[in-house]
Amino acid sequence: MASLIAGVLRERAPGERRVALIPEAVTRLKSAGVDVIVESGAGAAAWFTDVDYTAAGAQVVGVEELFQRADVVLCVGPPEVEEAVPLRPGQTLIGLLDPIQHPALVAELGARGVTMVSLDLLPRTLSRAQSMDALTSQANVAGYKAVLLAADSYDRYFPMLTTAAGTSKPAAVLILGAGVAGLQAIATARRLGAVVTGYDVRPQAQGEIESLGARYLKLDQVASAAGEGGYARELTGDESQTLLQALEDHIARSDVVITTARVPGRRPPRLVTAAALERMRPGSVVVDMAASELGGNVELSEPDKTSVLDNGVTLIGAGNLPSVMATAASTAYARNITALLTHLLKDGALHIDTEDEIQAGVVVTHEGSVVHPAVGGTPAGGAK
Ligand code: NAD
Repeated sequence: MASLIAGVLRERAPGERRVALIPEAVTRLKSAGVDVIVESGAGAAAWFTDVDYTAAGAQVVGVEELFQRADVVLCVGPPEVEEAVPLRPGQTLIGLLDPIQHPALVAELGARGVTMVSLDLLPRTLSRAQSMDALTSQANVAGYKAVLLAADSYDRYFPMLTTAAGTSKPAAVLILGAGVAGLQAIATARRLGAVVTGYDVRPQAQGEIESLGARYLKLDQVASAAGEGGYARELTGDESQTLLQALEDHIARSDVVITTARVPGRRPPRLVTAAALERMRPGSVVVDMAASELGGNVELSEPDKTSVLDNGVTLIGAGNLPSVMATAASTAYARNITALLTHLLKDGALHIDTEDEIQAGVVVTHEGSVVHPAVGGTPAGGAK
């Protein structure tokens, strides 16, 4: 029987430097019986050359040949609908495809009989799915990088430093939101020697924050907002106002604030107002990891934009931080996508079975239908 062929697409989104598979993963897939073809230049922006892929046993091809020959196409972000046109019935596309935000792509792939598999819908709490958890691996990279960006813009030391020229105070860093990215940011800021405080609306985060050597900011006036599946729920208008007021003094006293708060399916919650920014000292730095076109955690922030406010506070609206550390992010992502792809294999072929809990989570379209309830589909073999 001919081997399954996985094709690695070059990312085309502006500023995207990651690649779905790195050469090391080619070797692993080959030993699982999967042949790999790679679009020429796919890894270049993450410092993996065509020669590296060839040495690992992949074949480097042009994009047309890739779409012709691949049974499974691997990517990082969702392609534009027009870019997905060469995909044909029976082919599978795997990536962080964000189907909830890309209904046109879902409709197109569904109608075309392409199987769409999206890593961002993985049931993350299943322990056997952890090696496939690309949201976690990429959030780890982003949390780490956010601290480095903050440290780079902060014109003082993070650690307490004693030299012949005197002693510097350690930076006071406040991390708002202590999920995967926030906890990595806390750990990174601690490693740099800052005095770190963390806050999250889920009270469960307290133990995790403290286990990293940071102080937990306890705001008794703010209700717990633990939601389903380990995520936070959206705060009501009143709760949100209470939180904003409770945070303001703490923000004003911090040298560096990094915000990472998100609520699934909702706009990022506002945590830092313009009034709070105004109260910060000149030279302070704020990084909004949730910055988006729809607004982020910080009033005035814009994605991929750094500005110095009139009072001397540097406000960094983060963009695609995992892409900024493309080699580490791609290495982790390649492990996630390899773990998922091998999970989908049975007797060397792709076996889509939405009875399987992991597959029920990630398979969005299959055999001409949208099968994921989160994007309006009817689960295969089940009621909506
Ligand atoms: P996320 O990106 O959705 O949100 C980031 C953080 O923002 C969360 O911790 C959330 O509680 C927090 N937040 C939301 N609204 C807030 C507000 N108003 N103020 C302050 N903080 C606010 O979450 P995530 O990082 O993807 O992970 C969420 C949870 O899932 C975490 O508990 C994480 O440990 C858990 N998780 C578990 C597994 C697993 O079991 N294998 C895997 C991944 C994540």
